[in-house]
Amino acid sequence: MNDEILRVENLRTTFTTSAGEVKAVDGVSFTVKRGEVLGIAGESGSGKSATMLSIMGLLGEAGRAEYGRLDFMGENLTPESVKSLRGDKIAMVFQDPMTSLNPVLSVGYQLEESLRRHNWQGNIHERVAEMMTRVGIVPAAERMRHYPHEFSGGQRQRLMIAMSILCGPELLIADEPTTALDVTVQAQILGLLREIRRDSGMSMILITHDLGVIAGEADRVIVMYGGRVMEEGTAREIFGSPMHPYTRGLLRSVPKPDSPRERLIPIEGQPPDLLNPPEGCPFVKRCNEAMRICLHRKPEALTLSETHKYSCWLGVKD
Ligand code: SF4
Repeated sequence: MNDEILRVENLRTTFTTSAGEVKAVDGVSFTVKRGEVLGIAGESGSGKSATMLSIMGLLGEAGRAEYGRLDFMGENLTPESVKSLRGDKIAMVFQDPMTSLNPVLSVGYQLEESLRRHNWQGNIHERVAEMMTRVGIVPAAERMRHYPHEFSGGQRQRLMIAMSILCGPELLIADEPTTALDVTVQAQILGLLREIRRDSGMSMILITHDLGVIAGEADRVIVMYGGRVMEEGTAREIFGSPMHPYTRGLLRSVPKPDSPRERLIPIEGQPPDLLNPPEGCPFVKRCNEAMRICLHRKPEALTLSETHKYSCWLGVKD
């Protein structure tokens, strides 16, 4: 049985701006398996969110995405078929729930509306109460009458999770779902997502700049930089034996719970200008190990194992 739920091949995304074309995503490919958590890591502007907005057809008028292939549960997707899956078989949770919740409508009304839009066949009121209870917003019957401002930040994120799982999605895309929350609430929300996945078998793409969150949740990891995939592997491979200089730099810049006194080393410099992307490796201006070839030629992916690949000239034997 094919356990692959999503396949993305050679995704390229550009945004038209007054300054020119921004190449936000440049040839990204990956798969997600049934029930697994794929973590996508990288700094702001690395192309993580643009990748997901492209898949969901949410780029807006300025954005344009092209694919080699985009399959979901074995079916080739078109922009029209993506629309019908959105909020149904594929759901999203964003960083800021207030941008997704209407402040002048009760949350119960908004969740019920979401089910109506997807032609839910059962009892809409009961389904909303069930999902609100599932995410810990109780007593649901009473809380459904409340407005978004009557909930804390953590509760609003719980509401967004309730909204995202209303239709029983096969894949949840969570884009920085805990970034705006304090550490305790962050742990609660991640725990809630874990429970929902365990009970439903849902797959998840977890997009975050927070490597600690990825280390705790992801089965496999993609590290993005300058709109390209720099390294991918299982969480054990990425955190245990990182190969790409950018991945190693990212790991040196975050504290480790087992050695809290270790000096953190930030990656110096700025991400590349994607209006004028570098001809060669996108990391070349910040890489301590850069060579002449890195300036002019993009490295191809090197395969270390069935799951572990990275793109860097350092591993190429001449
Ligand atoms: Fe550094 Fe060159 Fe490897 Fe890019 S290809 S990460 S510049 S060594």
